[in-house]
Amino acid sequence: MNNQVNQWLNELTIEEKAELCSGKDFWTTQAVERLGIPSIMMTDGPHGLRKQAGESDHLGLNESVPATCFPSAVGLASTWNRDLIYDVGVALGKEARKEGVSVLLGPGANIKRSPLCGRNFEYFSEDPYVSAQLAAAHIKGVQSAGVGASLKHFAVNNQEHRRMSVDAIVDERTLREIYLASFEGAVKEAQPWTVMCSYNLVNGEYASEHKRLLTTILRDEWGFDGLVVSDWGAVNERAAGVAAGMDLEMPTSNGVGTQKILDAIEKGELDEQALDRAVTRILDLVIKSTSQKDLTDFDMDAQHQLARKVAREAVVLLKNESQLLPLEKSQRVAVIGELAKKPRYQGGGSSHINPYQLDNAYDELARFADSVSYAQGYDLEKDKVDDQLIQEATECARKSEVAVLFVGLPDRYESEGFDRDHMSLPTNHEALIRSVLDAQPNTIVILSNGSPVEMPWVDDVPAIIEGYLGGQAGGGAVADILFGVESPSGKLAETFPVRVEDNPSYLYFPGEGDRVEYREGIFVGYRYYDTKKVKPLFPFGHGLSYTTFSYENMTVSSRELNESDKVTVTIQIKNTGSVKGKEIVQLYVHDKHSSVVRPEKELKAFDKVELEPGETKEVDLELDRRAFAYYNTDKEDWTVESGEFELRVGSSSADIALTETISITSSKPTTFKVTRNSTIGDLMQSEHAEKLNQFLERHFSDSPFTPDEETEAKSEEGGSDMMSEMLKYMPLRALVNFQPSKEANEALEQFIKKCNQSE
Ligand code: BGC
Repeated sequence: MNNQVNQWLNELTIEEKAELCSGKDFWTTQAVERLGIPSIMMTDGPHGLRKQAGESDHLGLNESVPATCFPSAVGLASTWNRDLIYDVGVALGKEARKEGVSVLLGPGANIKRSPLCGRNFEYFSEDPYVSAQLAAAHIKGVQSAGVGASLKHFAVNNQEHRRMSVDAIVDERTLREIYLASFEGAVKEAQPWTVMCSYNLVNGEYASEHKRLLTTILRDEWGFDGLVVSDWGAVNERAAGVAAGMDLEMPTSNGVGTQKILDAIEKGELDEQALDRAVTRILDLVIKSTSQKDLTDFDMDAQHQLARKVAREAVVLLKNESQLLPLEKSQRVAVIGELAKKPRYQGGGSSHINPYQLDNAYDELARFADSVSYAQGYDLEKDKVDDQLIQEATECARKSEVAVLFVGLPDRYESEGFDRDHMSLPTNHEALIRSVLDAQPNTIVILSNGSPVEMPWVDDVPAIIEGYLGGQAGGGAVADILFGVESPSGKLAETFPVRVEDNPSYLYFPGEGDRVEYREGIFVGYRYYDTKKVKPLFPFGHGLSYTTFSYENMTVSSRELNESDKVTVTIQIKNTGSVKGKEIVQLYVHDKHSSVVRPEKELKAFDKVELEPGETKEVDLELDRRAFAYYNTDKEDWTVESGEFELRVGSSSADIALTETISITSSKPTTFKVTRNSTIGDLMQSEHAEKLNQFLERHFSDSPFTPDEETEAKSEEGGSDMMSEMLKYMPLRALVNFQPSKEANEALEQFIKKCNQSE
């Protein structure tokens, strides 16, 4: 323990300690003046600083100081660019330091379970590996500037509907493989200074007093050594929170939490050591954040340029038929849709910031094109179709060579605090698309939204760009992409289903009353669409470029591995087109024979490479044990099963270019407790197979259940017949049931004993 922290801890009274465990006000921690313990400030957020100078709130309602607005997490994620996200983290950290903020409340690593979640724009992905990797890059960037990050919202906060009272019911394997994995990777790789617990309950307990989550898993298993802060107002019972490892209640409880802690200690319900642990972590954070070196190099214009660079990489080119894009400077362009002039560039709620500069796509496009006309097309504040506006827009499109049509979700459609109940665009945007298409076949649709939308017009529109919520420089970034300043290089970090009903969580989202059951289990996003062969509108990992890439020469560092070995997959990627571009190479793992249900494939590594036309680069992707493991609930640990795994490399989950098969030998055979009800098939697949054969021969040689030579030969050749198929599922007890004798029964008991002894 730090000496200063130790000294403070010895000198603090129990009342002062309890007071330290909740905030001084909305954004700052308690100070203890007599000991010189300063107060520190924490504030949002994930894609821009929201330091409120005046009245405070947690829904982004009141003004905050001007700050750089970067693309929301959904956009950051579609860059798949760890370095760029690190740079955003550094920029956020610098702004925070300039404003005297010690902890930035973000990033959010919750999984996008349903496209309807109102806060998906603030989260990275439906895939825990992508989410954890990008959250880690964000945290490392922020913290390199001497500011703490707060990884949120831990855990299983995947909907806004009843977020403060809903109980998320998730089975253990799903929890580990999907919902916790997203946090686990980020915690282990980036060690955030703080983790923020979520509002909801997880399997019956509030996250803010969930000892298993906050202490057993987060600290003991993953090695987190920072502070846990409550989401703003997430505390249910304060004393239970302290006991569980929830250190700091935010915002201030105005003395209520303090008194509850003191009462619980007096009644012997809370151990004072638990209070000391929480206070130590709070003091550690204070020391850490007040002992950082001063930052001098801060430049708002450079931040804006970075915001534009990131926004460019965040753009996902979903479709580009007949190479309609990029546009030529000389083309007569009709810019249609109010969103071109009034951009929707960030989401609503606590991440809503006050950008110090805001580009709009219309002005930026006008800088490139020789001839630009504009029509509003719809009233952004309303859903109702305005025939007059549509007619003007249609005429405008007809008179041009190409129409660039801006549509999307207005603020009122998606935000922190509530979920969507459908995935459609507003009616007036839909009507506008149809009408403009009739007049101008060369139409490019540009989407501004934080989460997938349905596109019933997808086949009729030749080019579609997903611009997401691009931040303050998003307008310029879209113009850069439209005119080919840079090739698009973003890819979807989520699946776009054809219809909301196709989403695996559809039947169970957002639950009944205060209970939401995650019945789709591990089959989230592409894990479901791939396995069920449900064709999505646009698959996970999809995104086009103005150039083309070829994938060649896949090699693996070893084909025969032991479970603890790492394997490096190398491929050559070539830019086969005529312009510079970046490709995101994705590596998926498919378990060829598994004893448990597994998704068709899972993403386990990726990299982004930049290539000049004609250039070839080698990409190395490394996989470790965890890439092949599933969470074994019997063993309460990660298990790798012996057998073959297919490594699939490609440019999206639906576009696999190269595959290789490797074979892994597990260090621990899959042991299980043998009982009278264990099946012959399971035993034949286990380390007990030989013992079982001997046992059958010795005691049941006449039994129809003992495989004869012919059956054995067949199964060695990989074939099977009806008898052996039936035998597989016979429990051991059936041997005695069909050939009852005292001796047989005793022999069986001995056999079972021997199997279990040898475990
Ligand atoms: C949000 C957090 C945010 C906090 C402070 C809460 O309502 O869920 O993400 O950091 O408010 O604004």
